[in-house]
Amino acid sequence: MQSQQFQDVLNALPTLTKQQKYTLLNALSEPHYSCDIATSIEESFAQAPKCPHCDSEELQRWGIRNQRQRYRCKSCWKMFNSFSNTPLARLRHPEKWSQYLEGMTHSLTLRPAAKECGITLRTSFRWRHRFLQAIEYDQAPVLRGIAEIDETFFRESFKGQRKNLPRPARKRGNDKKVDCRKIPVVVARDRECHTVDGVLKNETADELCSHVNGRIDIETVVCADATLAHEKLARKLGFIFKEIVTSAGQRVVEGIFHLQHVNSYHSHLKGWISGIFHGVATKYLAHYLGWRRALTDRDSLTYDRLCNRILGSLRVQPFRGT
Ligand SMILES: [Zn+2]
Repeated sequence: MQSQQFQDVLNALPTLTKQQKYTLLNALSEPHYSCDIATSIEESFAQAPKCPHCDSEELQRWGIRNQRQRYRCKSCWKMFNSFSNTPLARLRHPEKWSQYLEGMTHSLTLRPAAKECGITLRTSFRWRHRFLQAIEYDQAPVLRGIAEIDETFFRESFKGQRKNLPRPARKRGNDKKVDCRKIPVVVARDRECHTVDGVLKNETADELCSHVNGRIDIETVVCADATLAHEKLARKLGFIFKEIVTSAGQRVVEGIFHLQHVNSYHSHLKGWISGIFHGVATKYLAHYLGWRRALTDRDSLTYDRLCNRILGSLRVQPFRGT
């Protein structure tokens, strides 16, 4: 390359988007993945094999299929492998999973991820949601100290669904309002950046309780908007409740109790969903909440950490890494 061309490349670097930077870094470096997630799952299963259908430990090895050890249960006679009945069942090309997961730690969208891994767009979509399904319920263990809880709303979306839409399709650029249901999402976040969240069916105290019960330490001071549902939730779960009357313009109570962290989380979550993915279908909203939760944890999301979250959800011994 001529020196002027090289200078042009250097000059263009500050204008790169986050995803373009990631693609460039990947092209320049030889990827090395310390954890092979598929091998970890197979090895862990082989150490204590168990039928995923009836929990029997009486198994027979039953040949190799698609390069995976197959087993047959002596109790229910069903056949399976170490991935059966897990979110990763029937996913192929495990040799490309590492690269795909690395992309997920950089919020890589479907098309660049497909191109990078040499897979189809359909496979890219399938992999994303299978991996997200694995970490969907991987919430923070227990919130402690000062926590903030608040709801936000997402417009109901049927993105990707072409048939049987329950309402007329919204046309891009069409200003005519189509009545959209608002889907409530609760986020509870403590000052250590641990997050608990969930898509709500409604905004009642019972529904809130079903998402945060057992996830907030009893000694936690919880800041929340002054609503009946939050008061009821505080009574049910017994934590210390600091009420912020935002409708009356109140922002901070006693100098330290406020909702700024959780509201900032809401706004970044919305910016991430609308800016990077151009909106997501409501049926997958919980997957994206889980992804965002992993990305915004106190420890930034690395490939090893993402692998360990997935392995943890499959009850496989975590990989040692950072
Ligand atoms: Zn069985």
